[in-house]
Amino acid sequence: MGYEKKDRKNGEQDVRLSTEKTARPTVAAMEALLQQPFPVLDHGFIRVVDYMGDDTSIVQAARVSYGRGTKKKSEDAALIRYLMRHNHSTPFEMCEIKLHVKLPIFVARQWIRHRTANVNEYSARYSILDREFYIPSEEQVRTQSKSNRQGRAELFSAQDATYVINLLRKDAETAFEHYHLLLKTENTDNEQAERDGSGLSRELARITLPLSTYTQWYWKVDLHNLFNFLRLRADSHAQYEIRVYAEAILNIVCQWVPIAHKAFLEYRMNGTYLSASALNVVRKMLDGQAITQPESGLSSGEWRELMDVLALQSKS
Ligand SMILES: Cc1cc2nc3c(=O)[nH]c(=O)nc-3n(C[C@H](O)[C@H](O)[C@H](O)COP(=O)(O)OP(=O)(O)OC[C@H]3O[C@@H](n4cnc5c(N)ncnc54)[C@H](O)[C@@H]3O)c2cc1C
Repeated sequence: MGYEKKDRKNGEQDVRLSTEKTARPTVAAMEALLQQPFPVLDHGFIRVVDYMGDDTSIVQAARVSYGRGTKKKSEDAALIRYLMRHNHSTPFEMCEIKLHVKLPIFVARQWIRHRTANVNEYSARYSILDREFYIPSEEQVRTQSKSNRQGRAELFSAQDATYVINLLRKDAETAFEHYHLLLKTENTDNEQAERDGSGLSRELARITLPLSTYTQWYWKVDLHNLFNFLRLRADSHAQYEIRVYAEAILNIVCQWVPIAHKAFLEYRMNGTYLSASALNVVRKMLDGQAITQPESGLSSGEWRELMDVLALQSKS
């Protein structure tokens, strides 16, 4: 068995060259994409380091209680859909995935809120951070949304967008210049400071860096909790910069567990839950009755959300 060292910046490190046979369930599509970095944002990436299980692992776990082995593929799909529909979640926990992710720190702060994963992050106490920071594209440079306090709205003019981007870049460059001044290194080569011991400690020097600085981590999670992450972070309400990572992971999940992925899209991602009052509104509408928000028992916010959901559904 051998290993090939490559470029850490681009996520191509410790690539395993082994082609040993295994008795474990494997997925051909996943074997093909293992270790490949998928670019996200301007300097980020996601790559699959390892995975465990496939669609049949979910089915086998669900059937163990009945003492029955794997059945036909169509029955497997029906079972997975049933499990997803009824929130029977533990069979999905039988599958796991380990990702190497390079992401800006402000995205990492949102991501780390998902506590049900195992994380090991690059240590900026131990190592010097690469001079890499996120700069949004013009398309993402937008005004503060008035309707959603956590969102962005209108595009800036090209001239204003350029001004914003230049300011962000200048600030980040200045911060990195100061970082290296504090470390007493002119570039990411820290040999001089290490030799004379006169540079500020890395654990303190890093505090001058912006939230746009890229960090890296290994992130291991089971499929149930990954679906929870994706439902929240691939959603249109999630910030664009984390959403693009979630979308990249969704593509990987589609190749890894295609049946579970389809059920997830059907029941979680593109489906919806209705409150008792909302269901009552829908029933009345189907019955041809006119109903207004004040008599619906829904708040104006709930009413707006319900109308949005129904409009989306009627469009598709
Ligand atoms: C659009 C959006 C906006 C957000 N805005 C904010 C914000 O303004 N401020 C903010 O602070 N956060 C915000 N969050 C983060 C959000 O509140 C959650 O912390 C985050 O999405 C993680 O979700 P989770 O707890 O379900 O995930 P996980 O931590 O992976 O947990 C999964 C599930 O496990 C259970 N669980 C895990 N740990 C515990 C525990 N310790 N105790 C009890 N149950 C546990 C819970 O059932 C939980 O739902 C936002 C998230 C989104 C998607």
